[in-house]
Amino acid sequence: MAENWRQHHLRSLPAVDVVVNIYHREYSATRYPHSLLVSVVQEIVAGLRRQILAASGDEELTGLPVTPEKVAFWVDSNLRKMEKPSLRRVINATGTVLHTNMGRAPLAAAARQAMADAAGFCNLELDLEEGRRGSRHSHIEDILISLTGAEAACVVNNNAAAVMLCLNTVAAGKKVVVSRGELVEIGGSFRIPDVMTASGARLLEVGTTNKTHPADYRRAIDEETALLLKVHTSNFKVVGFTAAVDTEELVVIGREHGLPVMEDLGSGLLVDLSGFGLNREPLVSERIEAGVDLLTLSGDKLLGGPQAGLILGRSELVERVKKNQLMRALRPDKVTLAALEATLRVYRFGDPLREIPVLAMLTASPPLLKVRAERLAKLLHEHCNEAYTLDVAEDYSYVGGGAMPLTRLLTYVLAIKPKSASLSEWVRKLRTGDPVLVGRVQDDRLLLDLRTVAEDEEEEVIRCLMSL
Ligand SMILES: *Cc1c(COP(=O)(O)O)cnc(C)c1O
Repeated sequence: MAENWRQHHLRSLPAVDVVVNIYHREYSATRYPHSLLVSVVQEIVAGLRRQILAASGDEELTGLPVTPEKVAFWVDSNLRKMEKPSLRRVINATGTVLHTNMGRAPLAAAARQAMADAAGFCNLELDLEEGRRGSRHSHIEDILISLTGAEAACVVNNNAAAVMLCLNTVAAGKKVVVSRGELVEIGGSFRIPDVMTASGARLLEVGTTNKTHPADYRRAIDEETALLLKVHTSNFKVVGFTAAVDTEELVVIGREHGLPVMEDLGSGLLVDLSGFGLNREPLVSERIEAGVDLLTLSGDKLLGGPQAGLILGRSELVERVKKNQLMRALRPDKVTLAALEATLRVYRFGDPLREIPVLAMLTASPPLLKVRAERLAKLLHEHCNEAYTLDVAEDYSYVGGGAMPLTRLLTYVLAIKPKSASLSEWVRKLRTGDPVLVGRVQDDRLLLDLRTVAEDEEEEVIRCLMSL
């Protein structure tokens, strides 16, 4: 026979309908579906029952028996936790502009509006002039052509998909020549050799890690070669005794042998930022001008748009890419296309350095960042004296997203040090708050870099810090 104490605890578990009734009475302001409410109550009561059955003695069951009021309180906090969406807005105060963990590029206001407008019905594949079926690529093709000088363009889900689709279209079952110095891995398991395998093309490596010469390509080409591929080594640099064949030279070699040249540009800039303390990165239009036959790049890196893979190049090749059966599996949706078109329209008709958040953040001037940091510090000073010390300090921001790995941008940060509380506990509190605030921890201080914080988020930053 079961022990008396166990029987006693099992008998004193609250009945589900009693808890439900109390919940309705005490928490009537929050309305959840009845079935959800019942299942949460059942779950909690079942958990208590398991605890009682697993205990080896009465003394393990501290806190039991519980009142139905207590269970109703747990139900309410569980329901509130469940109700919070998993994907939430984040205030990025890390200073890393293209933070892959935080969704890379924050979108321009016009792009956000366009996404909302396209979310209902839209003319995704409807030609409004002719009143018949249109192509989803048509919405961005002309503007991409005019911004880059390419003959044709189309868009897929991301750059990894763009690379795979192009390789599959042009080189399935054939050889693609790549320098060993460009067999890169981009974060998140994009590896050129693996993408190549997935596309059905055969990789032919030439040269060495640090040096590849034109003769290496020329020697490798045979009748099974379909393509010469160049990959932008966006997230690392080989320095010292090095040599690479640049795009212009590769195009010459391609023409000699009647082979197309493809370049995976990775980030892809449409405007020159070298006047702002940033490295000179290749512009998309320069690569097209250099004669690259197929060019791929990401929509959500330096371009500052939504996640997308842009494919640009010669009409004949791009048309074949569009007709590839895989396009159906890799094509972007209406909301992405709307955001991309709106972003490209800023480049065409607007002021990209002001309106594209990624470019505005990258080109923000250190004196201006200092003024913003000092203004916030002043507002917080009275409050903070009690709980923490607060300084404005010089520091560095990073581009991120695997672009310009060596570039550091001078910035100013709010440096916060709790007087007695635990820093890691504060970091956790800000990370799980509403809105979420993420900074970086360095030398026992929490640094908040205003370069990646929009001006209209400053008030919320203050509110988050006040709540500590
Ligand atoms: C980032 C990057 C990719 C992957 O692009 P996604 O849009 O993230 O799929 C591929 N190649 C290069 C060179 C890159 O920098």
